[in-house]
Amino acid sequence: MSTPSDTTHATAVELAGRIASGEQSAVEITQAHLDRIAAVEPDVHAFLHVNGESALAAAAAVDVKRAAGEPLGPLAGVPLALKDVLTWTGAPTTCGSRILEGWTPPYNATVTQRLLDADLVVLGKTNLDEFAMGSSTENSAYGPTHNPWDLDRIPGGSGGGSAASLAAFEAPLAIGTDTGGSIRQPAAVTGTVGVKPTYGGTSRYGLVALASSLDQPGPCARTVLDAALLHQVIAGHDPLDSTSIDAAVPDVVSAAKSGDVRGMKIGVVTELGGEGYAPGVEQRFRESVELLASLGAEIVEVSCPHFVYAMPAYYLILPSECSSNLAKFDAMRFGLRVGDDGTTSAEQVMAATREAGFGPEVKRRIILGTYALSSGYYDAYYGQAQKVRTLISRDFEAAFGAADVLISPSTPTTAFRLGEKVDDPLAMYMNDLCTIPSNLAGNASASFPVGLAPEDGLPVGLQVMAPPLADDRLYRVGAALERALTAQWSGHLLDRIPALSGASA
Ligand code: GLN
Repeated sequence: MSTPSDTTHATAVELAGRIASGEQSAVEITQAHLDRIAAVEPDVHAFLHVNGESALAAAAAVDVKRAAGEPLGPLAGVPLALKDVLTWTGAPTTCGSRILEGWTPPYNATVTQRLLDADLVVLGKTNLDEFAMGSSTENSAYGPTHNPWDLDRIPGGSGGGSAASLAAFEAPLAIGTDTGGSIRQPAAVTGTVGVKPTYGGTSRYGLVALASSLDQPGPCARTVLDAALLHQVIAGHDPLDSTSIDAAVPDVVSAAKSGDVRGMKIGVVTELGGEGYAPGVEQRFRESVELLASLGAEIVEVSCPHFVYAMPAYYLILPSECSSNLAKFDAMRFGLRVGDDGTTSAEQVMAATREAGFGPEVKRRIILGTYALSSGYYDAYYGQAQKVRTLISRDFEAAFGAADVLISPSTPTTAFRLGEKVDDPLAMYMNDLCTIPSNLAGNASASFPVGLAPEDGLPVGLQVMAPPLADDRLYRVGAALERALTAQWSGHLLDRIPALSGASA
């Protein structure tokens, strides 16, 4: 009989294997995760909504399938946490905002549907910065998530809930979305794996849009192979998303199993790293470069001169798109309605609802975007930003001519303290310095754990960037690092996480 920690600390691959062999039932595995959630959620607050009933029912259905001898997919029965910005009929979708309060979607996002079709067990919806705007989950209207490594620290954002649920062993798998780094930055600061697939590689249908030309759902996990298996389940063409790519899904699973980087050309990006980066981040990054070289990769230095303009361009393009996307939250169609007393006009109700329902960061970006798109300013701001975007894509094209993948630190620092940057939007935006270029260009990108910073004992992530539709290369590098580092540490990085109070295991 397995103990709860055997179960909640196992990888998705192990859990799926136990279910397939009959060693453990999917119900038992789901119950162990629900118990763990009940024990640690008061400290972590990774979830906005847990649906134990539907999770146990989904798990029971997998057990029935197995008993009937029906074929099971590679992740059948494995529990998963879903970022609360993707629709699922099993729970309300809030996007971390008051404005959607009480709205349960009538349909499943394509990503959600593929998870259900592959018999994964959705445990619930995870916390995030409101409408995925932020780098700390502190912009959630429902309170922040705490980093399981140190409960006084941020778990990253916007997908802090998904990343924290993995690090707290509440779920072995999670789904995130990445518009400027919201999968990769939380992965980096929690010691987990996060992958932003090539833009168009995973469907945006049913993903509540932040910035449609940048948004991309992706897998989050504790191991590289688990992430690849999840990637495989959710990726692939979807006719319901007009920007979905109609091409074969890169063979991410074989790449994650191989981890062979011999002969691979790995480009270190000159503009990402160095001055202003935390010493421990720099140190672990440099060690990782040496490690990759010792594993047979050829290290080259590449310059991407326009990356320094990525942040300002992003903070014009993203607000412009989100000011348009968020116009639909008008009190008439979804969730909250404020000030409707029968005498007020529709306009007054809309204004009162948007005033009450949106938080300060969302309002800031709507105003910024409306300004950038207004006539007379359009060319100067939005138009210029689009030109910068093209230059960044060209930098990538040139760099991928010289290297198979590019690498950098994932973030300039480790997890900072809750409250430390809430009053300084610019300081908050700086977290995504390394991650934003890949969203602007649409290429594949991931963050992998490469150790703890000596100065604070907190996780450091290494970012790998690959050309569009070469997502498999991310996994090849990630698996190489994981294998070598796990041997070096005689275990997984998350084995070193402090035990959470209230947790039995
Ligand atoms: N932190 C970035 C922002 O606030 C990234 C958001 C995201 O990827 N969803 O815009």
